Amino acid sequence: MPALHFESLRLYREAQDLNLWLHAILMDLLENYWPDQRQPARVTCIWRTDAENRADGAETAIHCQPPPYRAVDLGAAEFTQQEIDAAAAAVNARWQYDPARPDLLVCFVQPHGTGPHFHLQVHPHTRRREE
Ligand SMILES: [Zn+2]
Repeated sequence: MPALHFESLRLYREAQDLNLWLHAILMDLLENYWPDQRQPARVTCIWRTDAENRADGAETAIHCQPPPYRAVDLGAAEFTQQEIDAAAAAVNARWQYDPARPDLLVCFVQPHGTGPHFHLQVHPHTRRREE
């Protein structure tokens, strides 16, 4: 399992208040699908103020929701897009964001925001898919 790094004490604090489904999906990514177990996972964002969200050019406000937090970002600049896509596909094959909106994903990795990263997100209806 990779080391888990927090870029700030604030992020470490926020990580104590993750939605339990988000925590389970984060652990699943790290334990089972992280592209290189020797590369540490860097938590780069959990919660943002509205102003921080605007400054980052975010397209949704999911990082602005109050705890339990519903989104977490992990830096992925050390991986190829192919590695990132494969890990995301595996996570999305196991977890469903919202059965009513199958186009939305728990693990979003299309280029967005400030650089390559895994964006994990959950909804009240997020569930593990049937085996
Ligand atoms: Zn994000």
